[in-house]
Amino acid sequence: MRRTFDEALGWSEAGTALFLRAVAGWDEERYLAPSGLPGWSRKHLVAHVAANADALSNLTHWAATGEETPMYSSPRQRDADIEAGSRTPAAELAAWLRSSAQRLAAGVAGLTDDQWNAKVVTAQGRTVPATEIPWLRSREVCVHAVDLAAGVSFADLPTGFLVALADDVAAKRGGVAGPAVVLTATDTGDHWTLPGEGEPVAVAGPLADVVAYLTGRPHALTTGDGSLAPALPAWL
Ligand code: ZN
Repeated sequence: MRRTFDEALGWSEAGTALFLRAVAGWDEERYLAPSGLPGWSRKHLVAHVAANADALSNLTHWAATGEETPMYSSPRQRDADIEAGSRTPAAELAAWLRSSAQRLAAGVAGLTDDQWNAKVVTAQGRTVPATEIPWLRSREVCVHAVDLAAGVSFADLPTGFLVALADDVAAKRGGVAGPAVVLTATDTGDHWTLPGEGEPVAVAGPLADVVAYLTGRPHALTTGDGSLAPALPAWL
């Protein structure tokens, strides 16, 4: 793992600011427009990001007190909250987004060194030290800032974050069936290998496109003969 705790903390703060700036001043119409995620309006996405801050605040509470407070009470409740958020007035949704981010920032700022090492459980059921919370938040705010379809692109995100995200997704994709691919970021020289079926296909392009491809977002990555990179299966 190449990322450090301090880097992740910086990305979570910068990503939160980026996300908040992107939606600042939006009226109902702009909130109701489609996001980049299939079937989701921007309201769905903002509700999801606000609910994520609340969920991660549950983990900072868990780390601080030892009281088991899971991120979400259930996957069904999580989906229901996003659905309800998609019907919430824009001003109310914007206020939830801000207040949830402030609560999380306060929870993070309050943790002692010992509490940072406390074990918590993610929504996927992984047991991790609380020091992973800033990374979990970074991924949500940075990637979903792009998903807002409001002018933020992967190229606007910090290079170190993009490398760390590619590391993360490539590792997860190692356990999912799909084509064998060797990825090269032409601007940083980094490589990632996705084990899979068939002779490995070499795919190259800017780091921002590599990450868009790995995370299943629209991209412009091509193989050596100029054809579009092979489609990857869903991974989450
Ligand atoms: Zn998400």
